[in-house]
Amino acid sequence: MDPITSVTRGGKPWTPEFAVSLDGKKCIGCGRCYKVCTRDVLELIDRSEDDIDEDADDDSESISSVMALSNPDDCTGCGACSRVCPKACFTNKPMPLAA
Ligand code: SF4
Ligand code: SF4
Repeated sequence: MDPITSVTRGGKPWTPEFAVSLDGKKCIGCGRCYKVCTRDVLELIDRSEDDIDEDADDDSESISSVMALSNPDDCTGCGACSRVCPKACFTNKPMPLAA
């Protein structure tokens, strides 16, 4: 299936890049992405064992919460989350309509 495409208000072609994954091992729970998302796609959750990066050389073991994509079908593909994340946690890409 072809990815969703659109246009800007001025008529320029625009292809949304949807948030498709978020790396909980990199996330520091800063909340920047949550603040910029206008669609309630994101949610701060308790950090699980799977989100702990054993090889991290910072103090990440003290982090108790990480961000999660709790409502991905409401994402508009604006890309703001990815732009503000200081840890490059997000993968955003063009996608077809969800089945
Ligand atoms: S791409 Fe936009 S709408 Fe989608 S999760 Fe990121 S900030 Fe929210
Ligand atoms: S901006 Fe990045 S590091 Fe901060 S909470 Fe969101 S995903 Fe985690």
